[in-house]
Amino acid sequence: MAMIKVTPMDDELAIGHEGRIAWVNAVANQREFDRLMASSSSQSEQHKLDKRSKLSQLAAHAEMSPTNYARKHSMLPAFRVAAKHGEDLMHGDAQGESFSRRLGMLTQKPGAYICQSCVNDDLKKSQRSWYRRDHHLHGVDWCPSHEITLSEIKAPNPWAAFPHHWIEAGEIESACKVEHGQQDMAFLRCYAEISVALLDQDTPLDVRAVGYLIGKRAQHLGLRTSINGQRSTISDHILLKAPEKWLKTHFSHISEKETSGFIAKIDAAVISRTIPAQGYVYGLALASLFDTSGEAIQYLNASVPADVVARVKTPSRRDAGFWHGEFWDIYVQHGGLAARIAESLGMDKTYLQEKMSTLGMPSLHNVGASKSWRALMRLHGGEGFRSSCELEKVDEKDVEYLLRTVNPKVVALACNIVGSSWKDMAVVTTNFPPLRSTCDAQVRTVSPAPNQEFNRFIDTVVAGQGSALQQLETMAAA
Ligand SMILES: [Zn+2]
Repeated sequence: MAMIKVTPMDDELAIGHEGRIAWVNAVANQREFDRLMASSSSQSEQHKLDKRSKLSQLAAHAEMSPTNYARKHSMLPAFRVAAKHGEDLMHGDAQGESFSRRLGMLTQKPGAYICQSCVNDDLKKSQRSWYRRDHHLHGVDWCPSHEITLSEIKAPNPWAAFPHHWIEAGEIESACKVEHGQQDMAFLRCYAEISVALLDQDTPLDVRAVGYLIGKRAQHLGLRTSINGQRSTISDHILLKAPEKWLKTHFSHISEKETSGFIAKIDAAVISRTIPAQGYVYGLALASLFDTSGEAIQYLNASVPADVVARVKTPSRRDAGFWHGEFWDIYVQHGGLAARIAESLGMDKTYLQEKMSTLGMPSLHNVGASKSWRALMRLHGGEGFRSSCELEKVDEKDVEYLLRTVNPKVVALACNIVGSSWKDMAVVTTNFPPLRSTCDAQVRTVSPAPNQEFNRFIDTVVAGQGSALQQLETMAAA
């Protein structure tokens, strides 16, 4: 049965588009949806489609090129404002399918948001309503077009129905509890306009150029770009310019910082010429460094001297065979410590850490002191998932995140490394009955093999997570 084609609307979010396709075609569940998506394409297309990201499948359904669809309907441009040299492919490019798979269907904030004025306008103009990308930007709690506070959908599966359905059903609530004054709005408007402009890019910026430009602008304003010193940092400047309550809500690590303190995630990240910062960090820095969004966006096009880009220390490259083969032995040999591995390989540590995390082999430095890691090791040792999190008093989401991103072999290795200090860990852990913990700890030390629940959980979490993780799984099994 062929599917009824549903053309995406202006600025419509991919996940909302998917929901509309399912609704128009009266599809009962996700499995049915995937089956129909596959069967509505030709045989030769079908094979290709099965392997492609959901984003590419939706582009094919809409008869749009994946790059055009990604630029207009995904939030990839907001996530990947800048990219490493060599990875600055167009959003939706077939070579960057792993990005589309990982980030293509996500929004920049949890939940679904609507602007009631947009819904009214859309209904009047097109007799339908839909979810827009510019209502899902991190830190933007109002509609950039109407400047009214957004509403959040309270229903558990918002994408299954249209915005006007939720308004009629009374399933919405205000997304912002804070009133902003005129002066606050000037900064917030600038931040929102920059975020919207960045969302319209078809290709990420070259991190070498953007890092250089932001550093130069900060120095021009008399700010400090080094870790130590007397002058104010970029994050100090943000603290000065951005509304306090807004910062507290959306960037709490800045609002809680010490004066003159250097925050790696902000101060080092926005001027880095090797590792891109989180997308919204660029918007925040630019909004503080310029008076208007126009100036900020124009500045990003400023020319960068060729030697500045060429001088960037290019990390030593190794081929895929190395990373997926002999690197494991080196990792084990150095106890998973990034600093030691970097030294032994003569490699840039920051680059190596980045590479290690894409391989699911993060640095194991001080791993026994991390609550999430301890919960993960408990789980590996045979404790149930929920009780592992409860015992370590850690958010289940944090442990789930580790499960999704860390290679199971690495968890086994971490257990071995921490093995001898399991007892100490158990004692340190509050609310843990000491008698039981000591006993359990000994049992676990002698049984380092992953248990069934651990494997089952990994299977569920990893399912549908994309090729990189599947590769890891194959690797771990080999
Ligand atoms: Zn609006």
